[in-house]
Amino acid sequence: MAAPRVLVVEDEDSLATLLQYNLDKEGYQVSIAGDGEEALVQIDEAMPDLILLDWMLPKVSGIEVCRRLRARAETRNLPIIMLTARVEETDRVRGLDTGADDYVVKPFSMSELAARIRAVLRRLRPGLADDKVRCGDIIVDRVAHRVKRAGKEVHLGPTEFRLLDYLMQNPGRVFSREQLLDAVWGSDIYVEARTVDVHIGRLRKALNREVTGDPIRTVRSAGYSLDVDA
Ligand code: CA
Repeated sequence: MAAPRVLVVEDEDSLATLLQYNLDKEGYQVSIAGDGEEALVQIDEAMPDLILLDWMLPKVSGIEVCRRLRARAETRNLPIIMLTARVEETDRVRGLDTGADDYVVKPFSMSELAARIRAVLRRLRPGLADDKVRCGDIIVDRVAHRVKRAGKEVHLGPTEFRLLDYLMQNPGRVFSREQLLDAVWGSDIYVEARTVDVHIGRLRKALNREVTGDPIRTVRSAGYSLDVDA
């Protein structure tokens, strides 16, 4: 099983280093962002399995990061644990509808934090243990957010990952652009249908970079399907 990825968003260097060291020992793959803006950029590049998010951050606050993540379809269900410095902040986290899944008050012990992380992952990512989907020569690892084709790593953005993951669940079935929009972006936000074409294009390019034989079939005026010999 691949190590779950934890993104630590903390501007206090010594605490960030301590968290990285301890979570690494617990078997997590840890990355660090020093402010809210950097956190959002990192999440766009590689989707973590859980975020430890400090409340007080320079540039974009923890609360604001939380709100922005909850407003986007691809990060709506991303597990978030808030780190707060004082009891008053904890009250506000509780009172505000920030969308955080849990919160831990500083100072905390590493064993307490580790227990909270395990609990949130168990609750929100129950299938995390060995959630791998295979279709032909493509393997999607939902735990590590990794994709391999014919044994070679395929690098995908979060949207392409969700597209592929969805298509993999029903190989051979043709999905319309509207169906893909609903499944991958969510039905409550407006995205133009041609956005699907753009992301399918990126997915296709990534999958075909090192291996020949295009697994994605374009069905004229109907949509797309994943055609891989099972
Ligand atoms: Ca801080």
